[in-house]
Amino acid sequence: MLAKHDLLLKSAKRQVDRSKWHCCDHCKYKAFTEEALQRHLKRMHNGGGKGTEKAADVADANECKKCGKTFASAMNLRIHVKAVHLKTRDLKCESCTYATAYRSQLLQHMKVI
Ligand SMILES: [Zn+2]
Ligand SMILES: [Zn+2]
Ligand SMILES: [Zn+2]
Repeated sequence: MLAKHDLLLKSAKRQVDRSKWHCCDHCKYKAFTEEALQRHLKRMHNGGGKGTEKAADVADANECKKCGKTFASAMNLRIHVKAVHLKTRDLKCESCTYATAYRSQLLQHMKVI
């Protein structure tokens, strides 16, 4: 009796899952899994991004949108944008008013004084 009840619950749950389709934003395509939708996006809509010509792969992910320079890591890109384009200097010397965007420059400065 209990087992049968369990089975009913399980099949009901499965039906809920089955109705959870992943819908494509660009056309009427529906996929059962997230992976299938991603594959569809890649194939049919250039990765589903903002209409860029080449599908953005991981290697292009760390490209500066302002000057096109690419970086080995997302952190290097962030530092570059901060220092070169935003001109932010948020690493400050504790002993004077010196400020820089680069940790290495701050360390160099600390060595000098
Ligand atoms: Zn689509
Ligand atoms: Zn840049
Ligand atoms: Zn200083």
